[in-house]
Amino acid sequence: MNAAANNPVRLERAEHGIDPMLVDQHGVEVVSRLQQEGFSAYLVGGCVRDLLLEHQPKDFDVATNATPEEVKALFRRSRLVGRRFRIAHVRVGRELIEVSTFRSNTSAKQSDDRSHSDEGMILRDNVYGTLEEDAFRRDFTINALYYDPTSETVVDYVGGLEDLKHRRLRFIGDTATRLREDPVRALRAIRFQAKIGFTLDTEITRLLPEAASAMSAIPPARLFDEMLKLLLSGYGERAWRLLADCPLSVVLFPNTAPDDPLIRQAMQNTDERIAEDKPITPGFMIAVLLWKDYQARVRDHESTVKPAEARFLAAAETLAAQQQVIAVPRRFSQFVRDVWSLQERLVERRPRNITRLAENPRFRAGYDFLLLRGETGEDVVEPGEWWTRYQQVDPEEREKMVGALTGRTPRRRRQKKKTAPQSPDSLECP
Ligand code: ATP
Ligand code: MG
Repeated sequence: MNAAANNPVRLERAEHGIDPMLVDQHGVEVVSRLQQEGFSAYLVGGCVRDLLLEHQPKDFDVATNATPEEVKALFRRSRLVGRRFRIAHVRVGRELIEVSTFRSNTSAKQSDDRSHSDEGMILRDNVYGTLEEDAFRRDFTINALYYDPTSETVVDYVGGLEDLKHRRLRFIGDTATRLREDPVRALRAIRFQAKIGFTLDTEITRLLPEAASAMSAIPPARLFDEMLKLLLSGYGERAWRLLADCPLSVVLFPNTAPDDPLIRQAMQNTDERIAEDKPITPGFMIAVLLWKDYQARVRDHESTVKPAEARFLAAAETLAAQQQVIAVPRRFSQFVRDVWSLQERLVERRPRNITRLAENPRFRAGYDFLLLRGETGEDVVEPGEWWTRYQQVDPEEREKMVGALTGRTPRRRRQKKKTAPQSPDSLECP
C-alpha cells in the first residue's frame, strides 16, 4: 500500500472505516458548497488524522483549489486572515472553519508570494498549487491525509496511512530540511507525540537540539500561540515532560527549572480541568512557569528595597525577560502580576484586608495558586487551609476567624505604616 507521487492511495468507506457521526456537518457544508461551485475541496490535516484514529476532532480544516478571494466571495460570513500564510475563515453556525488554498512547497519558486531567509526558513508561503503539491508541503505524513465527505474517500500521497498504522511521527521529505524551513515543527512534533502518543522518528529526535537553537528566529507572538496549543490542550503534563527531555523547555522558558514540581502539578490539574470542560486561563500557567524565577528576583531585590517594591520590580523583570522569547499579551501578563501580588497578602491576612481580598476578582486564581504552592512543598499550607475554611463557613464564623487573626498581627508593622505616607501596597494591584 505504498503511496508514490502521482499515484495516491485511495480508500473507500469500507476500507478506512471513518465514522460519519464524528464528522462535523459544518465542515461538510463548506466542502459541499465549494464542490458545487466546481472547485475541488477536502477535509484535511488533524481532523482526518483524528477521524482515522477514532478520536473526536477538535476542529475541521478544509483545503481547496479555490483562492482565498474566491472562497471569500462564496461565503458571506467569511474573512481573509494571515499574511505569512493567507487563508479564509468561514463561519458556519457557531463554528469557524479554516479554508486554505492548495499550496506548493517547491523551493525553487522564490517570488513575491514565497520567500526564505538565508537559513532556509520559510517567511511567506502563498504560492498556490495542486492537491498533490499541497500534500507534500504539509509537516507530518499523518497530517497530510485528505477526506472527501461526499464520496467518503480518503486520499494519501505521502504514506500517512502506513505511518498511522504503525503509530509513527515522520516528516514528509528530508527531516533536516523540514525543520530548517520551520523550526516550530519541532514543537509540533512534541505536541503530537504528547497528544496521540506516537513514536518520533529517530531522525527527528536527533535533530531536536538543532531545531531548538533555531527557535530564536521565530516571532515571539507565534511562539505564544504554539505554547498555548502545547500546554493548554489537555495533555500539557506529557508535553512538558517531553519538552524538558530535550533542550526545548529551556529555549522557550530560559529562566524556568524544567523539574519544578509546581509546574508538573499545575499541568496535571489543568489537564484534568480540560477533561472536565472547566475553564482554564493561560495567565495561570504563565504565573506557574515563572514563579520560581520571580521569587528569586524578589529575594535579590529585598536586600536593597522595601518588600513591596522588591515584588513590583521582580514581577516586571521576570515578565520582561520572558517576553524576549514568548510574547505574552498584556491581559495575561496583568493576570500573572495580580496572582503573584495576591500571594503575599493571602499569606499575611491583615484583618482589615480580608473582605477586600475575598472579593478581589482574582481571588479564586490567587487562592488556587496558593493551594498549589502548599501542595508542592512551599510553607503556605496553613494560610491555604485558612482560606478554604473561610469560604466554607457562615459570616458569623468568618468574623471569629478574622478576630482570631487580630491578636496575631504584629503591631510594629502598623506603627511603621502610620509614619510612611505611601503604602507599599499601592505599588501592587488592588
Ligand atoms: P490539532 O488537531 O491539534 O489542531 P492539526 O494537525 O490540525 O492538529 P493545526 O495546527 O490545526 O494542526 O494545522 C492544520 C494542518 O496544517 C496540519 O495538520 C498540517 O497538515 C498543516 N500544518 C500546520 N502547521 C504546519 C507547519 N508549520 N508546517 C507544515 N504544515 C503545517
Ligand atoms: Mg487543527
